[in-house]
Amino acid sequence: MTTTEFETISVDLLTSVAGGSQLSDGMARAKQLGLHITSTTGGKHAAHSYHYQGRAFDAAGPRGAMREFYSEMSRTNPTELFYDPMGGMKHGRNIGAIGGHGTHVHLAY
Ligand SMILES: [Zn+2]
Repeated sequence: MTTTEFETISVDLLTSVAGGSQLSDGMARAKQLGLHITSTTGGKHAAHSYHYQGRAFDAAGPRGAMREFYSEMSRTNPTELFYDPMGGMKHGRNIGAIGGHGTHVHLAY
């Protein structure tokens, strides 16, 4: 990864993400597509959510961008990838839509 890719990510976000370079890459890509990072370790999530371990984030924005982001991330063997209109994945396998993720894409590694 080049240093220029970090320029769109605030220092706050970088320090709150522990999921490693895949998560950082995913976040950078989300921003490239025009999505906003709506949640990293903050906010309300299910108990034991990867959010609390700094391994997940949510991205929201234009529907087309969320669809594109989902389909790109579905090829990266994500630990969790949820976007109800497109489906859901756990540990790289399709599990179908899980509900509650109609307005944002959830990604965890
Ligand atoms: Zn989430």
